[in-house]
Amino acid sequence: MANFRTHFGVASVGGAVVAQAGWQASQWSGWQAITIAMLVALGGILPDIDADQSQAIRLIFNILAVIAVVLAVLVLQQRVTPAYLFAVCGGVYLGMRYLAGAIFARFTVHRGLWHSLLAAIVTGLSTAAISFSLLGQTERQAWIHGLALTLGFLIHLTLDELYSVDLTGARLKRSFGTALKLFSWQAPGSALMLVLVSAHLLSWLPSLAALRQLVTQSLALWH
Ligand SMILES: [Zn+2]
Repeated sequence: MANFRTHFGVASVGGAVVAQAGWQASQWSGWQAITIAMLVALGGILPDIDADQSQAIRLIFNILAVIAVVLAVLVLQQRVTPAYLFAVCGGVYLGMRYLAGAIFARFTVHRGLWHSLLAAIVTGLSTAAISFSLLGQTERQAWIHGLALTLGFLIHLTLDELYSVDLTGARLKRSFGTALKLFSWQAPGSALMLVLVSAHLLSWLPSLAALRQLVTQSLALWH
């Protein structure tokens, strides 16, 4: 499998290329482009957060904790007093950094369900839902954010799969086929749980019509 640096590097470059291309085609503003590039890069390292005990995990949970704090500030700043906001942010940071990390390490197997196409889709949907329902982005922007994260996730899975092909090209390593999969057969229960989570997300999502419009538009640009 590819290591953390390769993943982060390739996803960052991929994100920068996509963000820049869309910006030049006036699909989004400069600020949006930066957000999109960062989401692709984040998606590119997300699948490996289930590899217990690595430096990457600590880094990723730090990043996620910072993102969670920013989200909390954006959502709560108009509604609560500064002191309360400060306490909540502290709690959110510690919870995300230590508690979520520990829970994740306890309940996941590396390259299990979290390392699958299903997870790529569910994390993308969650991103679109958060962007639309919590952060008040337009439907189109929210879908773009979701797609950016999913793109990063897919770059990661593809890279892992490429690395499992022996570089002399002759042999496949035993890990072939473990990186890029729809879901994990060993854990049908958790796969079902992920599906249920996404079903729950439906009411938070921007409309499918907006997604369809976005896809048709991008395809037209591509041609
Ligand atoms: Zn991986």
